[in-house]
Amino acid sequence: MAQTRIVTLDLNFQGRPQAIASYLIRNGEAVVLIESGPGSTLAGLEAGLANEGLSPRDVTHLLLTHIHLDHAGAAGWLSRQGAEVYVHPIGAPHMLNPEKLIASATRIYGDRMDSLWGEFLPVSPEKLHVIGDRESIIIGNLEFLPTNTPGHAEHHYAYLFEDICFTGDVCGVRIPGYQYLRCPMVPPELHLERWHESIKRLREQSFARIAPTHFGIYDDPEWQLRVVEKGLYDAERWIDKMKAEDPNPPIEALRESFTTWMVEQGAAFGLSEDVVKAYGLANPPGMSADGLLRYWKKFKNVASTS
Ligand SMILES: [Zn+2]
Repeated sequence: MAQTRIVTLDLNFQGRPQAIASYLIRNGEAVVLIESGPGSTLAGLEAGLANEGLSPRDVTHLLLTHIHLDHAGAAGWLSRQGAEVYVHPIGAPHMLNPEKLIASATRIYGDRMDSLWGEFLPVSPEKLHVIGDRESIIIGNLEFLPTNTPGHAEHHYAYLFEDICFTGDVCGVRIPGYQYLRCPMVPPELHLERWHESIKRLREQSFARIAPTHFGIYDDPEWQLRVVEKGLYDAERWIDKMKAEDPNPPIEALRESFTTWMVEQGAAFGLSEDVVKAYGLANPPGMSADGLLRYWKKFKNVASTS
């Protein structure tokens, strides 16, 4: 049986290493990517594939953890090069008709939209595969198992492959060289309870290595799962405290407070300025304040008044 080769492709997002990965898994004729990255990093993707003696046309399958622009923006383009694209049922309609997704991202990023994310083409319908929770994806000799993992986004899968779990954003964001992790708690679908349940679900599976899209493959999944849970509890306490101090906090003040918290935390962990910037690129800390406020209003507000 052909040897399986697993390679982390660094997409060099905004000229910065170790911000966004696409994972290449190769065995015989099967050339599988987990995550396409955004449309703005096609050059990085092509360069990474070229290092392996491949071109985008050689990619046979693309598995998406979720449809956020930094993970799935180039999926449509890859489908036009011939790749079969696999996605969560809730994310699938947006891959065929990305207008709403693009409009909501444009509200956040404004005129930086194009330079940050590039083009988001719809996936060709005949190339789109909607896959169910725990429904094996068999590609040649390879088997991938998607696990439903909402919380960061409703439409999120982690993919188990041999002893590795490819976790997208549900197990946080980290950068090689540091035992430090952040949870990307972005609007509009952030749901802390569901996120905790997803971590529990992942704990029930056994894997020796963990590969968040931001960034790299690590051999300490226990540590990562534990620290994600702690990060979620800490964030919940933070928003509870902010709402207790001021029931209607201005969002600008919340963003500032959250960012200050993250900067202080980063400093305590000895992160260099460069690494702080890399974290900010993959996961702007202010946006987690938006996500947490929205979550609080939608779910906690109801709980406290009923
Ligand atoms: Zn995401």
